[in-house]
Amino acid sequence: MRLDLHELIASPGKKLDFAFELDTADLTFDGVLEFLTPVTVKGVIENHAGLITLTGAIETDILCQCARCLKEFPTRFRRETAAYLTEELEDEDNEDYYLLEDGVADLEEIARDALILNFEPRLLCRDDCKGLCPKCGKDLNEGPCGCGEDPDPRMAALRQLLEKE
Ligand SMILES: [Zn+2]
Ligand SMILES: [Zn+2]
Repeated sequence: MRLDLHELIASPGKKLDFAFELDTADLTFDGVLEFLTPVTVKGVIENHAGLITLTGAIETDILCQCARCLKEFPTRFRRETAAYLTEELEDEDNEDYYLLEDGVADLEEIARDALILNFEPRLLCRDDCKGLCPKCGKDLNEGPCGCGEDPDPRMAALRQLLEKE
């Protein structure tokens, strides 16, 4: 989505709401099997005394594969994003700044960057997912598999405690 900001740039204090769906056809992420709902991007662009800021949120539902146990699970993805829009780039390396092309903002580019930069490299079905047994492949979230001692001494200690009860 491209947004003409000429009027906003000329009017300090002015705000402009935006909302659009991001095309994800050519985007792939580790651990994401499918986008279950459209990726919606919503936010506002404001002129703060000449400084143009964008704040927004990206939301979608995704079907993921757990990095540890390989289980498929759906989850809600939501990330906030913020950027500065400027007509002249003074610092090329600052990723928060986006150049306006003749007063027009490329919101799709900003949303794509935000989505890519904010993605967790390892998606887990739950924070304490125990994963699969490296020997027999059993899902250890469903219980121990009997392959012998747990390599994690904390787990062994816990098991001893539980066996005493
Ligand atoms: Zn898992
Ligand atoms: Zn096992």
